Amino acid sequence: MSTFVQEETWGQSEMAELQFMRLKETVNRVYQNVPFYRHAFESEGITSDDVRSLADLQRLPFTKKHHLRDNYPFDLIATPMDEVVRIHGSSGTSGKPTVVAYTKKDIEHWSDIVARAIYMAGGRRGDLLHNAYGYGLFTGGLGLHHGSERLGCATIPMSGGNTARQITLIQDFKPRVISATPSYLMNIGETMKEMGMDPTESSLKYAILGAEPWSEEMRAAIEALFDLKAMDIYGLSEVMGPGIAMECVDCQDGLHIAEDHFIVEVIDPETLLPVPDGDDGELVFTSLTKEALPIIRYRTGDIASITREPCRCGRTTTKMSRVKGRIDDMLIIRGVNVFPSEIERYILQMDELVCHYQIHLHKKGVMDLAELHVEVCESFFDALPDKDLTHPIAEDLVKRIQRTLKMQALVSMDVFLKKPNSIPRSEGKAKRIVDHRSPTLSVSK
Ligand SMILES: [Zn+2]
Repeated sequence: MSTFVQEETWGQSEMAELQFMRLKETVNRVYQNVPFYRHAFESEGITSDDVRSLADLQRLPFTKKHHLRDNYPFDLIATPMDEVVRIHGSSGTSGKPTVVAYTKKDIEHWSDIVARAIYMAGGRRGDLLHNAYGYGLFTGGLGLHHGSERLGCATIPMSGGNTARQITLIQDFKPRVISATPSYLMNIGETMKEMGMDPTESSLKYAILGAEPWSEEMRAAIEALFDLKAMDIYGLSEVMGPGIAMECVDCQDGLHIAEDHFIVEVIDPETLLPVPDGDDGELVFTSLTKEALPIIRYRTGDIASITREPCRCGRTTTKMSRVKGRIDDMLIIRGVNVFPSEIERYILQMDELVCHYQIHLHKKGVMDLAELHVEVCESFFDALPDKDLTHPIAEDLVKRIQRTLKMQALVSMDVFLKKPNSIPRSEGKAKRIVDHRSPTLSVSK
């Protein structure tokens, strides 16, 4: 693979033709082989023959996460089990994991899609790629791994955690590309500084970051920390894994969707009707080439928008915006809806603060209360008389943060300043929300 693939520059009608052909195959496959889909279609009065155009996709019922759980572990698989060569799953915050499966051909397609994504982000054959995504049931590690090998990169299967060792190998092997969650790459960079190294002198030039929502301000902070280009990758195991969409290094403005393998829709999560291009809504994906676990109109719970404008990089595929947050993560604080990633943006606009924060949720009577715990930077802390975070200078800062959140995000929150290095660091997905409202419910994202 020496350049981007042909399908990425197709015109819309050419792409629509391919999508319809593949949608038809997918619909037939699930209708014939998966009782769940057959029943779901029939309860809408539809058979596979009723899909006569791409627009007919909208007549098909949605698939939701609980459908995967209800059919645990293997009841949604559309092929004989002896054609399945890989199983992945996600732990899920409540009870049973969701299980997904792949045939040999599925793995080949996925590898191609991720290879394309890495290429889009600046990776090239012959590069060293340090993969700090977790290996295991989670699709991140192995998904990036196979794509990286497919592109012809020397792939370092580092997995998450053991930060000191990650740093040693980055220093010794000199990888040009790294893949990780944004919060973990931040952690690696800050640890390098604590160890007396200068991350801007590392060999890293391109970072492929995803698996948690992050902000433009976080991108700017990571790019400055390492002197590299950071690109957003999107995916979820229920649809395939990482690589469903990827930002190009040329623009860093929206993620190109692999439309020859997936159809995207954006819907209003309340009315379930499509929203216009450019408007935020819930992302819905239909797989077009998957054999073991084809998925029809999967409601991702992720909020984003799409654009069909061609990109400066030359690709013509539909682009999605970065994910603003998950519907499940949306906080309702005194009647105002807000995503943690929005709060992150405002934190990172203040020089006295660093990107380590947690939002603690409490219940007071019938009211939900939110507290922001955020670390101050070393220089602010060191300059504080007696390093006292209740000093009037610190109190002024608290008031400024509260004012900013009130003015810009319209939320009222109690704010607690924390000393440097007091909030737990991420070795994978950052834990941004700590929920004290119910002892059994702890949201970890
Ligand atoms: Zn582009």
